[in-house]
Amino acid sequence: MSDARHRRSRDVAGEDARRGGRERRTDGEGTPSPVPAKREIVRLLNETDDSAVLALFARADRVRRKCVGDAVHLRALIEFSNHCRRNCLYCGLRRSNGKAVRYRMTVDEILAAASEAAAMGFRTVVLQSGEDPGYAVEDLCGLVRNIKTGTGMAVTLSIGERSRDDYGRLKEAGADRYLLRFETSDPLLFRKLKPDSVYEERFRCLRWLSELGYQVGSGNMVGLPGQSEESLADDILLFRELDLDMIGLGPFIAHPDTPLRGSPDGTIDRVLRVTALARIVTGNAHMPATTATGTIDPRGREKALQCGANVLMPNVTPQRYREHYLIYPGKICIAEEPARCRFDAETMVSSLGRTIGRDAGDSLKRPDRRTGKRPSPGEDPPGGHTAPRES
Ligand code: SAH
Repeated sequence: MSDARHRRSRDVAGEDARRGGRERRTDGEGTPSPVPAKREIVRLLNETDDSAVLALFARADRVRRKCVGDAVHLRALIEFSNHCRRNCLYCGLRRSNGKAVRYRMTVDEILAAASEAAAMGFRTVVLQSGEDPGYAVEDLCGLVRNIKTGTGMAVTLSIGERSRDDYGRLKEAGADRYLLRFETSDPLLFRKLKPDSVYEERFRCLRWLSELGYQVGSGNMVGLPGQSEESLADDILLFRELDLDMIGLGPFIAHPDTPLRGSPDGTIDRVLRVTALARIVTGNAHMPATTATGTIDPRGREKALQCGANVLMPNVTPQRYREHYLIYPGKICIAEEPARCRFDAETMVSSLGRTIGRDAGDSLKRPDRRTGKRPSPGEDPPGGHTAPRES
């Protein structure tokens, strides 16, 4: 989305809040369903009454069940390179971190790890890396094609900002989905934390990905130094405005070898509130209970699954590389074998009385996302913008 459009969307959100009312939309059956306005979201982020917070979590859990069901989708995560050309203040992979032990898996190693994931029963593989210029786009396209033909899995990429042409070629090669968090909707905070990235460009990438027919995921970090409740509420409303297929969020965790060392980490309480609000506001987006959430609280992922999340991403990166993909310290699932990570996820899901998703867990939003066809301008996306109705 252009910056102008982005500003406009935030103004509109602000306008709703100023009108003091709740935005009312109708679901398919014409029943009004309230979407909290910014003022209400800020109030819920600051709520001090425990029973009101529990009611928020319970509401998000009902919306989750109604909109995406009880299935938890498993995505196999391969962190294939920790080289990065960026210098984000929060990230352990930042180029100035001389203590990071750098690795770059070969295309054959990545393919082998993906094939192993398929053999374990995964229907989606997520290929993530730092922003690494060390792979030519043709090589990545060949990799995607081989994974698609060899395994039939859905392929999700999370490799940062690239040109529209690269995104297009990767889509043509068969990539289905793309994850690119906007990190924070606050342009000033973004500039401070990502000194060599441009806010508008990140949103331009998200727009391109959507235009090219990817299922698009974005998200934020919760508890960044200098992040206000207002700005978190803007993040949540932006999830809706961007009409995302997937939303990934987790706590900021201070890395000792970055300029943000010693800053307080995001809290589980705050992460769960943002998860719950994101679910309530967006309805049927796929939302992972992230590794970072499991890192700040041993039961963090279970808790997230109970207040809105419906996806887990077990790590299947080969053992010898895993300990080096340290975007933040203390990361869980470093020591476990890939099969163990999947087993633990399955155990977690059944302990919550939920089931494992059997299909690839595609977007539940507009069906045209899968074909790359966009609705014509002015046409309402089917099911895209209706607020969830609770049962
Ligand atoms: N290079 C890719 C992937 C980045 S790593 C990209 O730009 O999209 C994936 C995510 O880890 C980031 O988007 C960020 O939200 C998160 N992350 C980075 N550093 C973190 C930290 N210190 N604490 C918590 N999450 C962090």
